[in-house]
Amino acid sequence: MSTTIESPRAIDVCWDGVDLPSLAQKLGTPCHVYSASSIRQRIGALQTALRGLDALVCYAAKANSNVAILQLMAQAGFGADIVSAGEMRRSLRAGIPAQRIVFSGVGKSADEIVEALAVGVARFNVESEDELHLLQRLAAERGVIARAAVRVNPDVDALTHAKISTGKSENKFGVGIDEARRWFAASAQLTHVRLDGLHVHIGSQMLDLDPIRIALQRVADFWRELIGAGHAINSIDVGGGLGVCYRADRDRPIAIEDYVAAIRHALTGFDGRILLEPGRWLVAEAGALLTRVIRVKQGRQRCFLVTDAAMTELLRPSLYDAWHEIVPVTREPRPAQTYDIVGPVCETGDAFAVDRELPRCEAGDLLMIRTTGAYGASMASNYNSRPLAAEVLLDRGRYAVVRRRQTFEDMLAGEQSVQEWENA
Ligand SMILES: *Cc1c(COP(=O)(O)O)cnc(C)c1O
Repeated sequence: MSTTIESPRAIDVCWDGVDLPSLAQKLGTPCHVYSASSIRQRIGALQTALRGLDALVCYAAKANSNVAILQLMAQAGFGADIVSAGEMRRSLRAGIPAQRIVFSGVGKSADEIVEALAVGVARFNVESEDELHLLQRLAAERGVIARAAVRVNPDVDALTHAKISTGKSENKFGVGIDEARRWFAASAQLTHVRLDGLHVHIGSQMLDLDPIRIALQRVADFWRELIGAGHAINSIDVGGGLGVCYRADRDRPIAIEDYVAAIRHALTGFDGRILLEPGRWLVAEAGALLTRVIRVKQGRQRCFLVTDAAMTELLRPSLYDAWHEIVPVTREPRPAQTYDIVGPVCETGDAFAVDRELPRCEAGDLLMIRTTGAYGASMASNYNSRPLAAEVLLDRGRYAVVRRRQTFEDMLAGEQSVQEWENA
């Protein structure tokens, strides 16, 4: 209790040239802020690392699907990796051309496939034989050729949280190499699907390069085997999953140069196009959630900081036990105190941090939850009838509201009392 926490760095008060306390005052809280400069920096670093490769970055839209964020990707010439028709429409609206959109996901519906064929997406990352046959049938009915890749599940442990591991054989994603081999052997029967790509994505928030190397090696071995058997492989999609720093004292992200070097090494001699699908790495550290302390509640055993943000704005702590840095947005030094930082939602799991030491807070204080640019707003919900929070883009001293706070009427749009019963 006697130690004093140093005042946070200036960035905590002013970010991308914007004064956060006055922004919060003007726009209200909770509110997501994203630094356009930070996102552009990541985009630039990735482009530099990829120099000389025939590579297309397809940003994983699910990480943050705000149209303004997708526009930053479009402006950089990036494409999008989508997992629903909704993400496809958002990407198109942001100006990402269909020829740069790849469609992933285990549950693409017939309607979604039809829509993607109609707009002419670059390719389908196919995750099951049933989907492959559906794609063939729907493309044939329309007299078009669908480009497709098989999503290979290389059975590699990504060494990340179980809920974001996707590349083990027990996970629902992709198909084993044995099955993929059979697809290629039978591909002559696919009159309306050109199966000429491989895809792999083994998990998210990866901080260790070894599983990535192993997965890439398995895919590269398979590519060499396939071309040896006379199949053309025109593109290899290495997925996303690159981790970021949530916790400065613990997370050591993979350097982008090392990641790209691993891709270059594994795919030496490959003369097709390499696709990459980073999501989190491009946007996570560029975002923060601004929230105000509603009250300090001293329980019998613990002291709770109740904030106006909840699991509805940032689900990661509840869903993955994720750790986010939380700092008061003030330069004032204050004595330290230990808190559980919780939201107002009626769930015990609605907590951002347990036993967290912070400078002492009081009602009305502004806090910033950091590294929320990915899987923050895109996972939001209206649970407890809480309106979706505003999202704001910051850019060198200017800001723009890129999603206004949902109103009560917005939230109820489409909901109605029974007007008339239909006979079933
Ligand atoms: C989620 C996802 C990504 C992006 O993952 P990140 O960890 O955000 O980089 C890429 N590809 C596929 C197929 C995904 O499902």
